[in-house]
Amino acid sequence: MEKQHDVWVAGAGYAGAVAARALAEKGKQVLVLERRDHIGGNAYDCLDENGVLIHKYGPHIFHTNDRKVFDFLSRFTQWRRYQHRVIANIPRDNPEVVPAGKKTDGRFFFPVPFNLDSLKNAFGRSEGERLGQKLLDAYPAQSQVTILELCQNPDPEVAAIADYVYEHVFVHYTMKQWGQTPEEIDPGTTARVPVRLSQDDRYFQDAYQGMPAQGYTKMFEKMLDHPNIEVRLNTDVRQYLSLEEYDIFLRGAGMPLPCPLIYTGPLDEFFGLCYGRLPYRTLDFQFETLPQDIYQTHGTVNYTVDKDFTRITEFKHLTGQELPGVTTIVKEYSRPYTGDARETPYYAIINPENNALYARYKAEADKKQQLYLLGRLAEYKYYNMDAIAARALELAERL
Ligand code: FAD
Ligand code: UDP
Repeated sequence: MEKQHDVWVAGAGYAGAVAARALAEKGKQVLVLERRDHIGGNAYDCLDENGVLIHKYGPHIFHTNDRKVFDFLSRFTQWRRYQHRVIANIPRDNPEVVPAGKKTDGRFFFPVPFNLDSLKNAFGRSEGERLGQKLLDAYPAQSQVTILELCQNPDPEVAAIADYVYEHVFVHYTMKQWGQTPEEIDPGTTARVPVRLSQDDRYFQDAYQGMPAQGYTKMFEKMLDHPNIEVRLNTDVRQYLSLEEYDIFLRGAGMPLPCPLIYTGPLDEFFGLCYGRLPYRTLDFQFETLPQDIYQTHGTVNYTVDKDFTRITEFKHLTGQELPGVTTIVKEYSRPYTGDARETPYYAIINPENNALYARYKAEADKKQQLYLLGRLAEYKYYNMDAIAARALELAERL
């Protein structure tokens, strides 16, 4: 098996599949080993038992400013035009303020990222407009501001807005998602969802946004369909390998792996957890299929103040699937990853201590001449799909 391939790739998600295709097109014979029974990694989608197209590992919306990545992926799919919009659904804590036309069933809504219209939903039109002007005056040269930056503002009225947004958008959601406050987690994480100094209510502002017209899995099938690529599912790369200090050996063969290995799985597992587990958050997904056309107004509704789950996504908004009388939603519950085989490590918990532990594993990896680390797990980073695709294209170029 090992002689006829020029590169091994462990994992058939964004990292592995994009790298494999780019290398195959350069004439390399590529062997892709995937331990799950499907390709696509966490972007995998499939029909559920009622025929609704769902994302098994949580909702994925493609967005990028990277033209090269967009052009590369566009060779394997057409796109459904889709701009993700999210609202927060929260209990009303001030019954005095009832925005015109809004129901008063004890809950209310505003766009997330929090923007100038969210202010009006929260404080009523005229007060919201006044506070919006206050924000615009406070940050005349910016189109957005992070919550942590906003919380530093010394102006008492801006500080009051910051307190409101912190309390109604960030602190409870972040506690549910990370078990820590916004100050305790990596600042880059909350910065992903800024406070917008405009009325733009799109979740992402990238130049290219959309959903693969036939779904992600179909896109990956096309990407991996190349005469130079062989894919083996249900295959963990580690079953073939034994690790020496400066080398990766083929188990039982008494010889080093004779080609590069692009590894896209968790780095601690690759080294048998020798320095201990890298901490991750995992998610429990609760899928519910309902006998109705549509359940909610938006693709995703964030429960930023109460409930045990963080958000509800309704797939038909994302995929545009036309299927009368049935819809599927998913609720996301976050908790620490324990390493149980039934769990998936979804989010690296980025902080100095964990980065230091990762660095120990990385130092081991750097000694192995054949080994290249790529992807959200192997690099222990919070990458979006487009960032991984860009890194995979770069690595293929280098190899
Ligand atoms: P993965 O998709 O995890 O793929 C790694 C693959 O390697 C897996 O299939 C795994 O089974 C396999 N593997 C691991 N170890 C081995 C081994 N030893 N041998 C063989 N195979 C192995 N990004 C966006 O851009 N937009 C979004 O809307 C978005 N939503 C998200 C929502 C959620 C809930 C989560 C968790 C992430 C989201 N992301 C989103 C991020 C996106 O999932 C990642 O950027 C992307 O999936 C990373 O691809 P990857 O190939 O690095 O990792
Ligand atoms: N966040 C929040 N409230 C929200 C949305 C996001 O507090 O309504 C914070 C939270 O800490 C979250 C982070 O911002 O983990 C990043 O949000 P994003 O939607 O990008 O997370 P992902 O889709 O990657 O889970």
